[in-house]
Amino acid sequence: MPQNPEKVIDHMELFRQPEYKDVFARKQAEFEYGHPKEEVSRVAEWTKSEEYKAKNFSREALTINPTKACQPLGAVFAAQGFEGTMPFVHGSQGCVAYYRSHLTRHFKEPNSAVSSSMTEDAAVFGGLNNMIDGLANTYSLYQPKMIAVLTTCMAEVIGDDLQGFIVNAKNKDSIPQDFPAPHAHTPAFVGSHVTGYDNMMKGILSYFWDAEGSPAREENDSVNVIGGFDGYAVGNNRELKRIFGLFGIDATILSDVSDVFDTPTDGQFRLYDGGTTLEQTKAAKNAKATISMQEYCTPQTLSYIKDKDQAVAKFNYPMGVGATDEFLLKLVELTGKPVPAELTLERGRLVDAIADSHTHIHGKRFEPPRDSRRPI
Ligand code: SF4
Repeated sequence: MPQNPEKVIDHMELFRQPEYKDVFARKQAEFEYGHPKEEVSRVAEWTKSEEYKAKNFSREALTINPTKACQPLGAVFAAQGFEGTMPFVHGSQGCVAYYRSHLTRHFKEPNSAVSSSMTEDAAVFGGLNNMIDGLANTYSLYQPKMIAVLTTCMAEVIGDDLQGFIVNAKNKDSIPQDFPAPHAHTPAFVGSHVTGYDNMMKGILSYFWDAEGSPAREENDSVNVIGGFDGYAVGNNRELKRIFGLFGIDATILSDVSDVFDTPTDGQFRLYDGGTTLEQTKAAKNAKATISMQEYCTPQTLSYIKDKDQAVAKFNYPMGVGATDEFLLKLVELTGKPVPAELTLERGRLVDAIADSHTHIHGKRFEPPRDSRRPI
């Protein structure tokens, strides 16, 4: 082969060397059993014809690149919003590489998640040993405050029992008996990333709220907020905190990733900054209400919270003047506090700015609908 350590050449050049050309030609002739060249040319020409075009555009039942990913991705994201929490994915390593790279690519920030690295033997005999070793390594290497355990397709197909495995791992001293290790089964072949987010959120809340010896609920005036699988959470959560601050509402964002995905690279390793603290998570049980900003990310979580006698409200991320009004009015209803003057002023300026932008675009005065001028 022409490759040598003195001069490593790129694959584009490498695969054009005679040795490779010969390998490709023999592979094609002896193994691929492809169609004759004439047939390939005929079909290639046909794809440029009107007949093909008509067939192509008459398709009705086709979804290209649906915005749907697998459950564990959402579960990892939900877990990362809690302080010092390491998502522990019980399954194969490649899946975890996908979640990490997906989130890194979107947020342009490194993020941590580990895997129990199940391989063929674990797929046949079960992944208990992987869990025992994996939890011990995660605990000693990363020193997290909590390890949130979830599954991939592989662990679900063979039916690994997370609850039992975690108890076993604790009995083998992988992690201390009282170390927080909530879990959620997240079979990737059911639902999508929003389902996984929901499962993990419910798993973490129920771990703390239903823990043995956990004090009974004593309602206070605070409000919980769940952002859902929100790619703009860094900015959105900060804006939510500003709004709650103006209202004077004591609010807890459950899974607050705003600082997590904005942790500076300053040369000192830590899992990440910020996140909802474990104390806040426990105390969230006593809140007056929980608001979900994305209802499809939280059906099971909200149903669980409602069963705890908390009021719940859900939105489809309130964007725009009308939807934001709806959100603010819900806060008024839940807390009995009036809309702060600053927000009313900001709203007025926003409505005027929208009107002005329409004037620029159409060259004539735009009157916003009477409804959007109404005071909130
Ligand atoms: S669909 Fe299954 S195999 Fe693929 S990344 Fe998700 S958990 Fe892994």
